[in-house]
Order: sequence, then structure tokens, then C-alpha cells
Amino acid sequence: MDSFSAGCACGQVKITVSAEPSMVANCHCRDCQHASGGAYSTIVMLPRDAVAIVGGVTQYTVTAESGNEVTRSFCPTCGSPLYSELIAMESLIVLKAATLDDPSWLRPTMHIWRESGQPWAEVDAELPSFEKNPG
Ligand SMILES: [Zn+2]
Ligand SMILES: [Zn+2]
Repeated sequence: MDSFSAGCACGQVKITVSAEPSMVANCHCRDCQHASGGAYSTIVMLPRDAVAIVGGVTQYTVTAESGNEVTRSFCPTCGSPLYSELIAMESLIVLKAATLDDPSWLRPTMHIWRESGQPWAEVDAELPSFEKNPG
């Protein structure tokens, strides 16, 4: 799908995307665990200039396990995690899969940061799995 809409649970933040995801992955890093509240986040990588965001977000910058500084944006009203941006990679934005108005068509193609994975995480053994970021 090369255009779709997304947003937070309460409707304050609306996101419009006009590109195919360049990658969909299940990320098991500790930051994604905190941001999702679960064993991993399903994340959708997109070109930054294909994503339009309306509505105020709150941001939190963290040094990720990769050593990269990552800014995480969430809705200040309902708390929905929305997207992350790597400070070193301005052309990229990483959207949380659950923000999509219809996330059903997404197909994760890999597991990443499995070294932080929880023993109770359900992992699709058919998919490639990487200890850290894919090479
Ligand atoms: Zn909200
Ligand atoms: Zn992660």
C-alpha cells in the first residue's frame, strides 16, 4: 500500500503517509519493549519526507542499544507511542505499526535486536532473526 493514514488512540495526532514501507520489522530492543509495553514493537520504516504529521506530540530522546540517539514521539493526551527518529538519519522515520488506521496488511519480514528478546516472546521461526540491527 503506497498511501495510508495513521494516528494516536484519541485522535489528537493524525499521520498521513505517501510511500511504501521500506521495511517492517519486529524490534525486541529494550526501548521498544518500554515503548510498546510488550515483548517487542512492530516498526514500519519510511522516508521522512513521505510522512505528514498534524497535532502536537511530546518527545523523549534516548540513547538506544545501537548507541544512536533516538527521539521517540508520543501523544501527550492518550500516551500512544507514535514514531521514532534517529538523530543521525534525518531521512528516515520509524512508525509504530499499531498507529496505522488499518494495520492488518503489514507483513513483518524480520526480527531484530533478538539479543534483548524476552524468553516469553512469541517469535515466528520462519522469519530471519538478527541479534542486533541487520547488517
Ligand atoms: Zn492521542
Ligand atoms: Zn527497538
